[in-house]
Order: sequence, then structure tokens, then C-alpha cells
Amino acid sequence: MVYDLIIVGGGLAGSALAKNMAEAGARVLVVERERQFRDRVRGEGMYPWGVAEARTLGIYDALKATCAQEIRWWTTYSDGAPTRQRDLVDTVPHQVGALGFYHPEMQEVLLGLAAAAGAEVRRGVTVTGVFPAGPAAVAVQANGSKTQLQARLVVGADGRHSQARRWGNFKLTRDPRHLLLAGLLFTNMQTTEDTVCVFRPATFGQGVLLFPLGGGRFRLYFVTGRREHGRLSGKDHINPFITRCIDTGVPAEWFGGATAAGPLASFEGAAFWVDHPYDGRIALIGDAAACSDPSWGCGLSLTLRDVRVLRDQLLANDDWEAAAQAYAATHDQYFSALHTIESWLTKLLYDLGPAADRIREHALPQFANGVGPDLVGVGPDSPTDEATRVRFLGV
Ligand SMILES: Cc1cc2nc3c(=O)[nH]c(=O)nc-3n(C[C@H](O)[C@H](O)[C@H](O)COP(=O)(O)OP(=O)(O)OC[C@H]3O[C@@H](n4cnc5c(N)ncnc54)[C@H](O)[C@@H]3O)c2cc1C
Repeated sequence: MVYDLIIVGGGLAGSALAKNMAEAGARVLVVERERQFRDRVRGEGMYPWGVAEARTLGIYDALKATCAQEIRWWTTYSDGAPTRQRDLVDTVPHQVGALGFYHPEMQEVLLGLAAAAGAEVRRGVTVTGVFPAGPAAVAVQANGSKTQLQARLVVGADGRHSQARRWGNFKLTRDPRHLLLAGLLFTNMQTTEDTVCVFRPATFGQGVLLFPLGGGRFRLYFVTGRREHGRLSGKDHINPFITRCIDTGVPAEWFGGATAAGPLASFEGAAFWVDHPYDGRIALIGDAAACSDPSWGCGLSLTLRDVRVLRDQLLANDDWEAAAQAYAATHDQYFSALHTIESWLTKLLYDLGPAADRIREHALPQFANGVGPDLVGVGPDSPTDEATRVRFLGV
């Protein structure tokens, strides 16, 4: 049998696309190598513009009913003192909050939804290659035996270390590393579960993002642009991680009785992506297509934008070659806009030295009043033209 779609990877990207395409009557196979999902320190806080995409894709209600909580408030701290509390529902165009969930649970729920919609889901199976033939052929391996399967279109949704990217004719572009982030899950923190908190010292250059995931769980990220801060990873660095969070402004008492409840890992704060994520056989979506800098927390939302745009093209067009080309062209536009905004914000909040101080002097007062790109509310739909850049950063 020839499938309509073979999707490599059953993460947020693969399962959301599989659910939507199977519901529309397509023959869909999802191949996911993990039998059980585990904490890989991945996105668990989805911004309102991504939540709006989740609604459009029909996964929002199921997430809320099972593993996700909506978060209404977003509070910014400077040197430990709250400076702005934003009501997300009242201040974003889609009138939704952010969503918080534990990543492994979200993956399990969505893969279940894909199967319930009629997609065939194979777990514990690894895709080992995609062949240059039409219709596209993929090799899969399970329990030591190999099979070849065919599809009209292969979708690489296999994450930031994508192999599909290597099997296709894609060229990866990578920003130089600028930031470094370390993430750790905590339970029993002494704070509320209805607020995302962002902490910065008045001197800038580092920050902490605290995202409540529901069920008493909180994911904390320490993000730094300071060269003297090294990588934090493993059990021995849990106390230094907590110390850096407190130094950045998180109240020490919030950690009273808190337990580290997952691996501590560090990641490079840099984007990497392919231009035009379709090569005539394979379409890439989610992190396989573009990993925005994880320090800015947009990966989940960007992933759902990919799924929605590719879905709409495939459903609107019998010519899937043209549909995938159109998806790839649109992807380049919104990814480029997001990348621009994140580079402005990195300059504003993490660069150090007199030039960075001058930018802050110009931009911070406006930014505090909600002027400038709204990464959380509308992401890549914020204006990013040259005139906006000069107005915002003053340079
Ligand atoms: C440290 C860190 C923090 C982040 N924080 C945030 C955040 O706060 N907010 C946010 O929006 N985003 C965040 N992100 C980004 C977010 O995690 C990703 O954008 C999102 O998970 C991408 O989903 P995906 O489905 O493309 O990839 P993945 O979630 O990686 O899913 C890929 C799936 O493919 C499977 N797979 C891989 N290879 C194969 C193969 N050969 N055969 C079969 N299966 C395969 C894997 O097992 C996996 O299940 C963060 C990322 C990092 C690294």
C-alpha cells in the first residue's frame, strides 16, 4: 500500500499533523521510535499565538482536558521586584492565555489523538532512511528487521537532531552561539501556578523564566549571555543552578521545600534552520525545519504554525508538490520574522557594554509600556521592517 503521508516522528509536529490529515481522510502513518516518552528538557510553555494555532488544529480542548493548564498572568521582575503584570487574556488578539504542560504527557496525549483520528501509529520503530524515488520510499527498522514503505509525501517531524534533514537536500544554517540556557523541573515551589514569571537583574545579561506546568510542577530556565557562566548539567550542578536563579531575582523562599524532579541540562541559545523546508520529496516541519533559539520559548508555537500552514496547503490542493512548495515559501517568511524579533530582543536584554546600554535607554521605556514586538502575543506577526527596528532599538 502507498500511504498519503509517512510522518517521521510523533512529537508535537508529527502527531498534530497526523491527527488533522487523518481526520480529513488521508492515509497517514506516524513512525515514532520511542515506546515511552521521557523528560528531554523540551518546550512546555506555549505562548498565546501558539495556543491560537492549537485551537485551529483542534488539539487545544484535548490538551486542556488531559495534561495542560491555561495561564492568564505574565509577571516581569527586575532585581527581584515585580515591575509589570500582564493579563494575557485581555491583551492578546486571540484572548487566550499561555498553556503549560509536561512535555512527555503532551506527546502521549497527541499521539493518542492521531491514532483515534485514524492515523496508523507505529511506536518503537525507527526510520533509517528516505530514498530518492517517486513515490517517496522510507526504510523503517523495528526489532532488528527492516521494511520499506511508500508514500505520496514524506514529512520529517523528527526534531532538532533531525535525520530527515540529512536524508534530504537541505542545507542547515546556524547562528553563532550567543546565549546559554539550563533547564530543570521542580515540584513544590512556594509560588502560584497561574503566572509565568520572568526575572532579570537591573544589569541585564541573564534571566530566569519560570513556567508553571500544572500539578505542582514548574520548569525553570536560567538563560545567560555572560561568558563567565559555564554549562550547568547533572546532579552536581543543581545547587549552583538554584544559586544563579536566586542571584537573578527569584525569591530564595520559593525554593524552600522544592525538589528537583528531572534532569538538569544545558543548551546553546542559538537558532538553526533550513531555508525552504521542502526538497521535492521530504517536507520538514517543527524543529526539523527550524529551531528558534530555545531561550525565547517559541518552538512549540512555531511548530504548530508549520502544521497549520502545511495542513491547509495539502487540503486545499490536489497537487501536493505545489502544496509543499507553497508551505516551504510561507515558512521562510514567518520564520525569518520570528528570527528577526528574537535577535532584537537578545540585543536588548542580554548584550552587555555601552552600546547595549544606549539601546536599553532608548527601548526599555517603550517596551515596558507594551511598545515593540510582542513575542508572546503575536510572535512572527509583529512588524519587523527596518523602520520598526529603528523606532524600537533606536539604531
Ligand atoms: C531546552 C529547550 C527548552 C525549550 N523550551 C521551550 C518553551 O518553553 N516553549 C516553547 O514553545 N518551545 C520550547 N522549546 C522548543 C520545543 O521543545 C520544540 O520546538 C518542540 O518540541 C518541537 O516539536 P517537534 O515535534 O518538532 O520535535 P520533538 O518534540 O523533538 O519530536 C520529535 C519526535 O521524533 C522522534 N524521532 C526522531 N527521530 C526519529 C526516527 N528516525 N524515527 C522515528 N522517530 C524519530 C523522537 O523520538 C520525537 O518523539 C525548547 C527547546 C529546548 C531544547
